[in-house]
Amino acid sequence: MAEATSKDLHAESGATAQATRAIRVYEEGEQKTLYFSLSPEAEVAVLARMLCREGYNDHNWGHISYLQPDGTILLNPWEVPWDEIRASDVLRIDATGKLLSGRWTVTPAIALHLAAHRLRPDVKVAVHHHSEWGTVWAALGEIPGIYNQSSAQVGDLGLYNEYEADVTFNEIAEQNVRAMGDSNAAILANHGVFVLADSIARAHQRCVALEMRSRMAWRVKALGAERGMDMKQPAVDGLLASALAGKSGNRMYHAMIRREVLADASVLT
Ligand SMILES: [Zn+2]
Repeated sequence: MAEATSKDLHAESGATAQATRAIRVYEEGEQKTLYFSLSPEAEVAVLARMLCREGYNDHNWGHISYLQPDGTILLNPWEVPWDEIRASDVLRIDATGKLLSGRWTVTPAIALHLAAHRLRPDVKVAVHHHSEWGTVWAALGEIPGIYNQSSAQVGDLGLYNEYEADVTFNEIAEQNVRAMGDSNAAILANHGVFVLADSIARAHQRCVALEMRSRMAWRVKALGAERGMDMKQPAVDGLLASALAGKSGNRMYHAMIRREVLADASVLT
């Protein structure tokens, strides 16, 4: 029945002529999972809201930076928690961290993100937060083990003690990024997590996988320090390759976007 297979949502978009435009957010069919496109600013806002639900929820302390084709960088503002951010809150900065547009403040901790974008041409998106489960392992100073499929899809995971120096300084931030080598995810000891990606969709997948891995490993170890059956490396390699190749498509990513727009369409405005 049509009522069961599609829903329309009216997104407010300020005083523009598009204020009442219907956004179709769901219809059956694996290849038809998203009927609207997101502006780059909306991509940042929706990513923040999606990750907040997944455990990236330590008030307003996280940062998402998103490199644009013209060399400018989109950044979530320092003041706004990830569960209330809208596209219009997203700031635009230059490669030195200078504010180009936006009504909020650039985080002083931007140096690590700028260093990642400067030193790693493959990095389009950098995410830092004190995620609920990842920070447990930051507190332990350990790498969470891999015990299930989702956990295998993080990729190389480093552990860095950035509190040995201050990452608000450019040189120190660059040292930390160089220490990551080619890896795209790190536990920052006594602090949180740092995730790099070549797209917003990949950042979402990797951040979610890291948080799920951190939660699963915590649960396994809570049953006993020696408990847990490590996943075999060939299986880990296969699952990671599958994730990198996008073999499961965008179904989950698009479903999570729809969830946010259905919950509060103002995220797009
Ligand atoms: Zn932090």
